[in-house]
Amino acid sequence: MAEGKKKKKTKIVPKKYPMPEQNPKERVKNFDEVPLGQDGETAILEAKRCLQCKPSPNRKICKDGCPVEIDIPAFIKQVQEGDFAGAMKTVRDKQNLPAVCGRVCPYENQCEGMCVLGKKNEPVGIGRLERFLADWERNEQKHGKIELPPPTGKKVAVVGGGPAGLTVAGDLAKQGHKVTLFEALQYSGGVLVYGIPEFRLPKEIVRAEVDFIRRSGVEMRNDHVVGKLDTVDELLQEYDAVFVGTGAGLPNWTNLEGENLNGILSANEFLTRVNLMKAFNFPEYDTPIRVGKTVVTLGGGNVAMDCARTSLRLGAEESIILYRRSDAELPARREEVHHAKEEGVRFELLAAPVRYIGDDEGNVKQVEAVRMRLGEPDDSGRRRPIKIEGSNFIVDCQTVLIAIGQSPNPLVPMTTPDLKTTKWGTIAVDAEGRTSKKGVFAGGDISTGAATVILAMGDGKRAAKAMHKYLTEDASWPAPEVFEKAAC
Ligand code: FAD
Ligand code: SF4
Ligand code: SF4
Repeated sequence: MAEGKKKKKTKIVPKKYPMPEQNPKERVKNFDEVPLGQDGETAILEAKRCLQCKPSPNRKICKDGCPVEIDIPAFIKQVQEGDFAGAMKTVRDKQNLPAVCGRVCPYENQCEGMCVLGKKNEPVGIGRLERFLADWERNEQKHGKIELPPPTGKKVAVVGGGPAGLTVAGDLAKQGHKVTLFEALQYSGGVLVYGIPEFRLPKEIVRAEVDFIRRSGVEMRNDHVVGKLDTVDELLQEYDAVFVGTGAGLPNWTNLEGENLNGILSANEFLTRVNLMKAFNFPEYDTPIRVGKTVVTLGGGNVAMDCARTSLRLGAEESIILYRRSDAELPARREEVHHAKEEGVRFELLAAPVRYIGDDEGNVKQVEAVRMRLGEPDDSGRRRPIKIEGSNFIVDCQTVLIAIGQSPNPLVPMTTPDLKTTKWGTIAVDAEGRTSKKGVFAGGDISTGAATVILAMGDGKRAAKAMHKYLTEDASWPAPEVFEKAAC
């Protein structure tokens, strides 16, 4: 460096630029989105916090944490320069649902968890930037014309219109294959439409993302349950390959005494009635749902937070989360826990239900629970909860929502005899998403068990790549033993 010319040090801005949000007292009375989004000026300032790290074999950076491999430093650089259209193009190159992931992706454990800036400061708000760009594109109607490639003559069936299926459909259509997506419900989107509530993910946004994929040339057949109307074997007679992305929508139950009392619902039923049938919009929609004065939600994941927060919005005076481990082990995203606390959800931690107690008319009136303490870590690495004998206590309530996990949807495996499944009911796949049945691929929650949107999309990307290869250059298939091993 020439004498006297010192390298100018960039001043680090230690914290993310704030995200405006609805006031907690107000928002518990409505279903509108909680974070309001940032403007272009703030997005540029946030992008300027980025150090533009170069990848190196010895150091992981943001993009190593993104399952769909978005070139994060590149799109952030474009935002720094105010080139929002270019940045969006970079994001869309890898990402089929940017407005969704910018809202619900667990980025704190993914890209932002690997942000170099985050070692000593707050990481760059990558999720917020992605959300900003997707909203900018939608609001400015800058979607532009989607260029479709020449048809390859190959036909693909995608079963299930959740994040995994939508990703496969979008990616294969972009390569010129004729894709038909079969969805059991009246809209595609999967959990994004029937599970995650409006105040976290407005359905209009999911619709716009699904529409973008439809405009990429995907034919969408809704209200079509594969396994009832037809089978995977029948699809294979018409299509060159099939992708199964049917998710994990089967609720887990506690199997405790009294579980069949009125007022005890699975999270899945509760959220589906609120989201898909618009129960929150009664009487405009003729599908009311009743919640009691006190609602107890069992579980500590995103689903539990969604139930507890939805209950408050439906008029519950008290919403209690009962979770068997401590705050540190809550599996929900920290932002969701923070929002739930701000809204007044009460956390009854280190407590587990023992039985449900009903009144003379068969309605639940109490949950009996027991205090827990944490022992040694279990296989998942989390400390095992242990009952404290004699510590039972009673919580009065009129509604209980069970949000302790979901299992894979069994219909497709049940109706496809030679599709190998694991002991958890997931479809056994190899690293490329190939199943034990030639020409059939699978991914997302149906093969991993209940996980996250971005992991389902990552699976979808990998499967789409493998399907393209299968359709165009190499139709070889692994030996059956590969799946015997996976199925153990
Ligand atoms: P799904 O989204 O379940 O989609 C499967 C689709 O297949 C559905 O549309 C279903 O109707 C359809 N289908 C099923 N069977 C058939 C059939 N036989 N024929 C035709 N179609 C069929 N993840 C996050 O990353 N962040 C969050 O904040 C978050 N919050 C969540 C909140 C809730 C309430 C829930 C339930 C989950 C949440 N998740 C979250 C998890 C995430 O939504 C899932 O991991 C993700 O949606 C899985 O995608 P998928 O495509 O595998 O399955
Ligand atoms: Fe990060 Fe998720 Fe976006 Fe990837 S998709 S860059 S992990 S927020
Ligand atoms: Fe920017 Fe963080 Fe990625 Fe480095 S790791 S390029 S600071 S977002």
